[in-house]
Amino acid sequence: MNKTQELIDKILKLKREKKAVILAHNYQRPEIQDIADYIGDSIELSRKAMDEKEAKIIVFSAVDFMAESAAILNPEKKVLLPSKGARCPMAQMLPVEQIRMWKKKYPNVPVVLYVNTLAEAKAECDVCCTSANAAKIIDAIDAEKVLFGPDHNLAWHAKRKTGKEIIPIPEKGFCPTHILFQKEDIEILKNEYPNAVVAVHPECMPEVQLIADFIGSTSQMCRFAKETEANEIVIATENGLLHRLKKENPDKNFIPAYSDAVCPNMKLNTLEKLYLTLKNEQYVVTVPKAVAKKARKALEKMFTLLSQ
Ligand code: SF4
Repeated sequence: MNKTQELIDKILKLKREKKAVILAHNYQRPEIQDIADYIGDSIELSRKAMDEKEAKIIVFSAVDFMAESAAILNPEKKVLLPSKGARCPMAQMLPVEQIRMWKKKYPNVPVVLYVNTLAEAKAECDVCCTSANAAKIIDAIDAEKVLFGPDHNLAWHAKRKTGKEIIPIPEKGFCPTHILFQKEDIEILKNEYPNAVVAVHPECMPEVQLIADFIGSTSQMCRFAKETEANEIVIATENGLLHRLKKENPDKNFIPAYSDAVCPNMKLNTLEKLYLTLKNEQYVVTVPKAVAKKARKALEKMFTLLSQ
């Protein structure tokens, strides 16, 4: 038996013994996706964890804010993040003090925050949203103007779809991985693969979104890939998604819009760290009760608006 298989067996054994569930974000390394119980985007995964009534431990193979959301939505379970340093730089771009400052400047304007924020920030907002539902949530709010953060490209996308006035907070929050995609690179690929369709994430820059055939979250991209009649699809999101796309659609050809589009924070998680996480029950993610209560309200408001 090779070393990787040995490690996988040890992880699966610990997982059974400790009644743990392994959640892997779509951007995780292929070998982690392959042993996860669920693969998906952040909120999709947190909700899956809520359905796992028997589970005592959630191993959230992703970055900090996602594990925090899981902890907020699953207070009775122990949530573990395999890599302590797996922090999303975009989430760090909107500290709570800054939200308070914007709220003071626009006292009666509702605050909508992308789930890619820390728990403390979520606790300051009226409602959360994901990249899949930002426009739907903003549409559902009874206001023509909203404060929205931290991603100004997603803010642009939501403004385009809703026609509402959206004030991005901070002014230029961004994902360092998604801004790597360039319109020119995609145009070269379109020439090379004339029958290909282009799917991009709304964290990409506006000029990239404007040349896309499809704009959506990672889960929406997975659905699009299955449903489209095209056999060649240019993908503009973190390259981890390609593994899932290829697995689910073995007959289609997925072309990365930029081959180095890697989120180094997501990739901090490895099989070795997954093993240590389960063995030592590290690193436990906790959110102070008062913060969790408010942040949960903002997440639940999103679920309510979506169900209407
Ligand atoms: S891909 Fe971007 S938004 Fe997602 S975790 Fe990495 S830095 Fe954050």
